[in-house]
Amino acid sequence: MPRPLQAVVDLDALASNHARAKRLAPRAQVLATIKADGYGHGLCRVERALADADGFAVCEIEQAAALCMRARSAGRDRPVLLLEGFFSVRDLLACSLEGITAVVHDVSQVEMIERTRLEVPIDVFAKVNTGMNRLGFAPAHFAGAVERLRSLQAVRSITLMTHFASADEPEGVAGQLACFDAHVAPLGGLRRSLANSAALLRYPETHADVVRPGIMLYGVSPFADRDAASFGLRPVMSLASEVIAVQSIAAGERVGYAGTFRADAPMRVGIVACGYADGYPRHAPTGTPVLVDGRRTRTLGRVSMDMLAVDLTGLPDAGIGTPVVLWGATLPVEEVATAAGTIAYELLCAVAPRVPVREARAPASGPVS
Ligand SMILES: *Cc1c(COP(=O)(O)O)cnc(C)c1O
Repeated sequence: MPRPLQAVVDLDALASNHARAKRLAPRAQVLATIKADGYGHGLCRVERALADADGFAVCEIEQAAALCMRARSAGRDRPVLLLEGFFSVRDLLACSLEGITAVVHDVSQVEMIERTRLEVPIDVFAKVNTGMNRLGFAPAHFAGAVERLRSLQAVRSITLMTHFASADEPEGVAGQLACFDAHVAPLGGLRRSLANSAALLRYPETHADVVRPGIMLYGVSPFADRDAASFGLRPVMSLASEVIAVQSIAAGERVGYAGTFRADAPMRVGIVACGYADGYPRHAPTGTPVLVDGRRTRTLGRVSMDMLAVDLTGLPDAGIGTPVVLWGATLPVEEVATAAGTIAYELLCAVAPRVPVREARAPASGPVS
């Protein structure tokens, strides 16, 4: 029998969240952001579930090329945006050959296009740095860079782009949006793309022509102060396992590596087949929420590589084989992330290749058989 741990991916929920994004930004093209293997859900699986996607955004050129190729062979004109752009002439040629849309965020990339003879002109997203200070032209140099791109035969279309640093924070988007508007105003007539999930959900004024939702597609709220359900989003991934051993311990006994948890009364401890090598966060402290047989309890002590411990006190019927949900439809991954001092993005992306994935068409909650 296989190890009982598995990730269950609800393809209906994924499609429903995507439909939600499209309804919220009805006039925009929606590029489904599926970098990092579809935020840990499986790139091809997500692509398949989003059959009606306008387009996609990824980081790796091999994946972009494969997505373009599959779109072409299905007879679809479906842009695929390469979020960090090309790193070499070879990549640039691949963008031209495969029809990949590239982010251009630095003058070195403009120079590369100028130096290279392209058979087929490329579509680019010219990116301006409006305050995040990650990728993008300095605002003062943006218009110049765009004019340079505009003059090139090798460039077929230009979309103006920026990325928000704090759309999910109380700070919001106002400052960066004002900076963007000020610097793209002289470049009239070009399409614009700004919004990630948080901006799409909370700031309609950022929708413009192209939106780039990521985390919301997977049923996760980007905001600390609002849950996914309140936006009509459904969790896509459940990480489910079983109790594989039970320990009855006396007051004073300790649990796990370094014995960081000490029982102050006799208790039953369940050992669950899921550890940090599966992607469960090692930093999750004692008290991180977990569902055993659909009931909320807590983790105990340190997470090991392959296992973790849970409190079965108050769950007298739980034993070997009892289903456990680490996160999922009935325990938002956001809550586990918060308890572990991280964000849901990191937990989803970290689910390890050794965890088998089962696809479900109905919300996956509770026991998994
Ligand atoms: C990852 C990413 C997105 C999607 O962000 P979410 O917060 O997951 O919606 C959009 N744009 C860029 C440039 C990104 O890197």
